[in-house]
Amino acid sequence: LDLRSEDLILLRELGAGNGGTVSQVKHVTTQTIMAKKIIHMEAKPQIRKQILRELTILHDCNSKYIVSFYGAFLTEEDRDIAICMEYMDVGSLEAIYKKTGPIPPPILGKITLAVLEGLNYLYGSHKIIHRDIKPSNILVNSKGQIKICDFGVSGQVINSIADTFVGTSHYMSPERIQGATYTVRSDVWSFGITLIELAIGRFPFPPDGSKLTVLELLQHIVNEAPPTLPPGEFSDDFDDLTKQCLSKDVNQRPTLQELLKHPYVVAAQKSNVDVEAWTRSVRRMSATTN
Ligand code: ADP
Ligand code: MG
Repeated sequence: LDLRSEDLILLRELGAGNGGTVSQVKHVTTQTIMAKKIIHMEAKPQIRKQILRELTILHDCNSKYIVSFYGAFLTEEDRDIAICMEYMDVGSLEAIYKKTGPIPPPILGKITLAVLEGLNYLYGSHKIIHRDIKPSNILVNSKGQIKICDFGVSGQVINSIADTFVGTSHYMSPERIQGATYTVRSDVWSFGITLIELAIGRFPFPPDGSKLTVLELLQHIVNEAPPTLPPGEFSDDFDDLTKQCLSKDVNQRPTLQELLKHPYVVAAQKSNVDVEAWTRSVRRMSATTN
């Protein structure tokens, strides 16, 4: 598929985040609905071309747990990069829980399975570390599929974005904050924070919900105990899995392989919870609040 800017018509804006804006578009020649992400970056033409080359690896990332990639191109003025991907019509878990409240525990199991399988695919098949696991990068569609997006494929994108923004994320692991290089286990930490956030319906740092400056938050992550689930509200298996993901010592933290064998994940695999039915209830609830 040769994507050209002039073949895409804008349907609506979907959201904006760190370094990008996302809109829903229609590719007129194939009638495909897509999500188009524009990444603005102050980079030399040489670098931008290299980024485009690096992004072509996305064509090889094919998994039912990964948002598919249609293509990328430089925008008219050549200043931005557009990435076209599968449109996920129920939206991100962040948008969902902010409208509907905490995610029901049986759905959390399927989310855990999808994210771990997605991360395991990226690393196992492509040696890609995600680097930005958080509720807004886990997307859902009305077929009941759960997929991850926005992973760090391109070393150049990572560098350019890091140059443009202070690359701090609330989901960053203690070792990353202290300057260690990224490993898959840093994604495991970010996923632990994400799971607790989805389960309780708010970002779990700090425990009392007070507002911290970015610096205070980073100090808190490094110096204080990791967040925990409220006692007695969740299953022991879920409690154990999140505790393991949030081991502050990176060497104590489980690998993806180990997590995929955790009793919580094994049970989630077998569970026949109807995710599609849940997405219908999500859509009804968002329709009444919009
Ligand atoms: P962030 O992930 O930090 O929120 P992004 O620029 O990556 O910022 O995305 C902005 C918003 O656009 C997301 O929060 C999500 O709700 C929406 N979005 C991104 N990609 C898609 C997609 N493929 N399908 C549907 N919605 C999307
Ligand atoms: Mg995102």
